Amino acid sequence: MVTLAENIALVQERIAAAARRSGRRPEEITLVAVTKTVSPERVEEAVRLGLKDLGENRVQELLAKQPYITGATWHLIGHLQRNKARQVWDKVALIHSVDSLELARELDRRATAAGGRVNILVEVNVAGEESKFGLEPEAVVPLIRELTGFTGLRVLGLMTVAPLVEDAEEVRPVFRRLAALRREVEALHLPGVEMRYLSMGMTNDFEVAIEEGANLVRIGTAIFGTRG
Ligand SMILES: *Cc1c(COP(=O)(O)O)cnc(C)c1O
Repeated sequence: MVTLAENIALVQERIAAAARRSGRRPEEITLVAVTKTVSPERVEEAVRLGLKDLGENRVQELLAKQPYITGATWHLIGHLQRNKARQVWDKVALIHSVDSLELARELDRRATAAGGRVNILVEVNVAGEESKFGLEPEAVVPLIRELTGFTGLRVLGLMTVAPLVEDAEEVRPVFRRLAALRREVEALHLPGVEMRYLSMGMTNDFEVAIEEGANLVRIGTAIFGTRG
């Protein structure tokens, strides 16, 4: 049986190789270990093995697991309903999935009232899939312009989930488009907006995503195995 340590080492090697192919150093890429459906014991083991950034896609599961794990940085990577913003805004280092003005406004309201700030990424549905969350690419700049007035938010980049395909090469244009969009937003030099992160790439496509500029990759299956 392949151990967690071996999986992690292999994923890290593949990340490093892809980073070098894109002319970057491996340290410039942050691996977010996606722990949905993974037991707290196994998550704990992963943290001990050096995975400090953890991603959950559901608020309930994140909040339930968090008390068992020490020394980790949490990311919310899945869809966030506005009425759950209150429960999670101050429990995570980064919310990858902001996709509406209403949600952004709610997060801003919570953070401002508490004298804090929430770090967010704007989720983009680059391929226009019906089943996916995220803004259409054309809506990104208008939304981010609106967010510049929100003192409780720090806009730190963009995120996408690419379509699931056999050959990751097929979704290279999706990643390329998000990278271009990031540069477009960057060039506007909007106050309170810093396009630091490009969150893209999962088990099936993370190497292509890194080659196209990803610096946050969200990987579950390649680390923990297939979800039951
Ligand atoms: C589950 C999930 C991942 C990780 O997917 P794997 O294919 O298991 O690596 C990444 N991002 C999001 C938003 C997810 O929900």
